Amino acid sequence: MRYSLLSVVAASVVLAADPVPKEYDYIVVGSGPGGGPLACDLARAGYSTLLLEAGTDQGDNPLYADLQNFNEAANDDLSRWDFWVKHSEDPARELKFKHMTWRQSDGTFYVGLDPPPGSTQLGIQYPRAAVLGGCAMHNGAVCSLPQDDDWNTIVNATGDTSWSADKMRKYLIQIENNQYLPKASKDHGFDGMEKNPQPSQRGESSSELGMSSY
Ligand SMILES: Cc1cc2nc3c(=O)[nH]c(=O)nc-3n(C[C@H](O)[C@H](O)[C@H](O)COP(=O)(O)OP(=O)(O)OC[C@H]3O[C@@H](n4cnc5c(N)ncnc54)[C@H](O)[C@@H]3O)c2cc1C
Repeated sequence: MRYSLLSVVAASVVLAADPVPKEYDYIVVGSGPGGGPLACDLARAGYSTLLLEAGTDQGDNPLYADLQNFNEAANDDLSRWDFWVKHSEDPARELKFKHMTWRQSDGTFYVGLDPPPGSTQLGIQYPRAAVLGGCAMHNGAVCSLPQDDDWNTIVNATGDTSWSADKMRKYLIQIENNQYLPKASKDHGFDGMEKNPQPSQRGESSSELGMSSY
């Protein structure tokens, strides 16, 4: 696998002779929403941190930088990693999934239940983006707040109360720019970066800004 060294963040800045240290406190593999912020937080906390990313930096590429192009980004050969999975161990049941994907003899995909003769069965597609930023670079930026019970299930499973619903609500308040509730609503934020318009206007805003729903 080809690695691009995209980010070397050292606690003490090393300039000149040997800019790439041989040892790090932490090595983070993958720069998606999981690895990217983790590497930044480690570096900010003073640890020398190496972030490895298999893909390239497409931050200046409008296909990835402009949200309205997310569909094209998800199909871009520069970054696409097509994973094919099974939804069932039973081959007959697999053939009933209407999203079953096949490679046709001309190389193009066929999705459905009646593949042309000569097609090769691939599986159910799970697209992934190998690019700096990971799948956040080709996703639809849909932002939704899970049910409280979902967060609390994580707390119960891990014993880690930092995942609790009330703590997560505080993050929502920080990022939300609610445009339809009275500002006295204490469970919502009004100064954050994420616009949350009237539900009736969300369709329009989704093409420009991504969608928000809480
Ligand atoms: C098509 C699609 C649409 C989505 N839409 C939304 C949405 O609208 N809203 C939403 O909230 N979420 C959405 N998601 C989900 C969201 O994008 C993922 O949950 C999130 O990106 C996962 O982050 P991650 O860091 O775990 O993994 P990823 O984002 O997959 O990042 C993994 C990174 O690791 C790199 N990598 C992998 N293996 C190696 C290796 N061996 N060495 C070096 N680098 C490696 C990859 O290149 C990639 O950059 C969508 C996902 C997809 C695929």
